[in-house]
Amino acid sequence: MLIDTHAHLYLDAFRDDLEEVIGRARAAGVERMLLPAIDAPSIRAALALCERFDGLYAMAALHPTETKSATRRDFEEVAALCEDPRIVAVGETGLDYYRDRSFDARQQTFLRRHIQLARRRNLPVVFHNREAFGDLIRIVEEAGRDEQDLGEGGRLRGVFHCFTGTPEEAARIARAGFAVGVGGVLTFKNARLDECVRRIPLDRIVLETDAPWLAPAPHRGKRNEPAYVRLVAERLALAKGVSVEEVAAATSRTAENVFPGICRDAPDRAGR
Ligand SMILES: [Zn+2]
Repeated sequence: MLIDTHAHLYLDAFRDDLEEVIGRARAAGVERMLLPAIDAPSIRAALALCERFDGLYAMAALHPTETKSATRRDFEEVAALCEDPRIVAVGETGLDYYRDRSFDARQQTFLRRHIQLARRRNLPVVFHNREAFGDLIRIVEEAGRDEQDLGEGGRLRGVFHCFTGTPEEAARIARAGFAVGVGGVLTFKNARLDECVRRIPLDRIVLETDAPWLAPAPHRGKRNEPAYVRLVAERLALAKGVSVEEVAAATSRTAENVFPGICRDAPDRAGR
């Protein structure tokens, strides 16, 4: 049993064949899929899919690249949607310095708002990072220090998604209370992530596709889909010298710890 903790299934890329995509995921043992948001319409679309298919779970956030033109009101709309009891995480938020450095400060402001939202709702957070690890981890660590007297229940937790960093960065992420999301990049010839993932314990790793992007080998460059999370699990098993079953069981346990809302007996979902 595998969990794809990051799939944008509400995008147009899946409009014509979503039932087949989900069918192939289940056939590959991927029973649960988490849908990170980009903006308010994507949250509504994700929630609608959760009603259509079992095993899908929605998040709520403004993607960092969306914050360039976003207003306070846009964030408030996201925050209002986040009150829906079906929302299992705040995500994806974070920092993206890759293409456009003209609104770093703005991204950081929205990142802090998302962290406050997660804390208020007691939800995990999914972070997107592109060439911004230093600033991102500093802001997360600062937020962690602020909450020391909140007790375990208020502790910030979640995932640094699409992790491609160093073992030292992974250790720092773990110390902040977070897991890393490992996806298709692990299978890329030029990524050289095997040594790094060997040093990260499985109780700090969740699996993901980031579908429709970043398809693992041998599908690199084509549309990604949740069924391919099995290829990531296989590569991770190879890198760690353990069985795929062990990787599947351990990373699913990690995902359930990080995202309590996806557990089948979660109180919010029991009555549905
Ligand atoms: Zn994503």
